[in-house]
Amino acid sequence: MKKIFKSLMLVSTCLLALGAQAQDNFPDKPISLVIPFAAGGPTDVVARLMAIPMGKALGQTVVVENTVGAGGTIAGARVARAAPNGYTIFLHHMGMSTAPALYKKLSFNPMTDFEYIGQVLDVPMTLLARKDFPAANFQELLTYVKANKEKVSLANAGLGAVSHLCGLLFMSQIGVDLNTIPYKGTGPAMNDLLGGQVDLLCDQTTTTVPLIKENRVKVYGVTTLKRLSALPNVPTLDEQGLKGFEVKVWHGLYAPKGTPKPVLDKITAAYQQAMQDPVVRQRMADASSEIPTLDKMNGPNLKAHLEAEIAKWGPVIKKAGIYAD
Ligand code: ASP
Repeated sequence: MKKIFKSLMLVSTCLLALGAQAQDNFPDKPISLVIPFAAGGPTDVVARLMAIPMGKALGQTVVVENTVGAGGTIAGARVARAAPNGYTIFLHHMGMSTAPALYKKLSFNPMTDFEYIGQVLDVPMTLLARKDFPAANFQELLTYVKANKEKVSLANAGLGAVSHLCGLLFMSQIGVDLNTIPYKGTGPAMNDLLGGQVDLLCDQTTTTVPLIKENRVKVYGVTTLKRLSALPNVPTLDEQGLKGFEVKVWHGLYAPKGTPKPVLDKITAAYQQAMQDPVVRQRMADASSEIPTLDKMNGPNLKAHLEAEIAKWGPVIKKAGIYAD
């Protein structure tokens, strides 16, 4: 009996030592940065920008993995069930806080299934139309969609995507229901807008500012209460009559629950460093996105923010009666 006990002790000591060694050696292979939307969209652009300096700081490649579908919830479930060893991390936006109310059968819990690394950035949105859409300004847009609601299409990236939320706010404030078309991300939705297959799309400035400047899409307004330095001539939706219309897309970085603290510390340091990278900062400034100050880039801050946002959106979504079974 004593012998068995001794061997068991030896095995567990060895396992502990191996675990500690794995943490010391972290990372010794590429890291997957999972994002919940398709390539070419704003989340993908942000992830790919961050991945380069993060990889440099960690001495390993950070590979962006697009796990798409169901408004971001397939990726949430994938990361919640991934091995908690630091080799799978997750970048998601405020959809993390709306999912519990939107999805009755959500297979992960944003408040208990993750470790919180930190907030990444806040991104404004823009309301756009295909270039040849027959409305030259916001007032004409209102008149046109009210008169043609059966034939106007509004693209989004699925229930839980911010394009969906922004579209819902727009429709509810003008009192019109349009034909909504879901995509697996606003990357493919934007391709269809550029190709003229859909009429309208709300999307983040990360990808829309260059298209607006190049005159490849029509823009009707920005979703912040103040005009953006990146698009000074584009009025806010609020100033054009949609009072209080505000969507700023906050983002957070997560790891599966149980990821060891020393590993999380290394990832946190790398992400903080990546967010100070001049290329990342310039690209985000070009989109009038706000990067939090270093003192706010930490797990407790993200967790508190997520909790507050879940409490904020839950009742709003329940009242609106929008959800997936
Ligand atoms: N931002 C998402 C994307 O990158 C889509 C969305 O939330 O609307 O595709």
